[in-house]
Amino acid sequence: MRRAIEARDAATILRLIRERVHEDPAGCWIWRRVSPQGYPAVSRDPSVPVHRLVVWATRMGCKSELSALPPVHHTCARTACVNPDHLVPVSSAFNSLEALARKAALSRIEALTRALEQAAPDHPVLKEWPEIELLPLGQLIQERRRRPASMSSALLQRKQREAEHARHRFAQVAEANKLLEQGLTRREVAQRLAIGVATLDAWRRKVAEASRAPEDAVVSDAA
Ligand SMILES: [Zn+2]
Repeated sequence: MRRAIEARDAATILRLIRERVHEDPAGCWIWRRVSPQGYPAVSRDPSVPVHRLVVWATRMGCKSELSALPPVHHTCARTACVNPDHLVPVSSAFNSLEALARKAALSRIEALTRALEQAAPDHPVLKEWPEIELLPLGQLIQERRRRPASMSSALLQRKQREAEHARHRFAQVAEANKLLEQGLTRREVAQRLAIGVATLDAWRRKVAEASRAPEDAVVSDAA
C-alpha cells in the first residue's frame, strides 16, 4: 500500500482497499482498523486515513497532494466506511455543520429510544431497525447503548418480571405437590391450576432440578 501511495498509483490503491473491506448490508465498505478518532487507518500509519485515500484516488486521480484534499464527508454517517460512493469532499464549514446536526439528531433519537424503553419496553421498534437507510444509524445507536456499564432500565424491568414469574411458578409447583400428596392425579392437579399436564411436569422437573443442584454441589465438594 505504501509503495502504491508513493507511486500515486490510483488503480492499485483502490484494488488493495477493495480487497481488505467487509461490505455490510447497507453497502458500506467497512475498514476494520480504525484510528482512536474512529476513522479508517492504514496499518502502522494512522496519519493516512483510508477514506481520504479513496477520495484522493477516485476524484483526484492522485494528482494533487493528499494533504491538500478538503475534508471528506461520509454520506452514510459511518466513519469506518471507505465506499467511494459514500464519500464526498466538502468545505470545512459544511462538514462541521453536518456533524453538529447529526450529533443533535442522534441525541434526540437516543432520548426518544430511552423514553420508549420506559413507556413500552416490549415495543418492536426497540428490537428492529427495518429500513436499510436507518441501518447505519441503528448500529450507531446500539453501539452507544452498549457502552453504559449499568443495566438499562428496560433490561432491569424484564429481569424483575422474569423473577416474578419464577416465584409465581415455584408457588404453583408447591401447591401442585401438596395436591399430589393428597392423592389427586397429575391431570386433576393440572386442571386445578388451569395448565396442561406437560407444562405441570416441566415446571415440577425444573423446580426439582433447581432445589437439588446446590446439594449436589455440596456433596461433590465433600467427596
Ligand atoms: Zn458507507
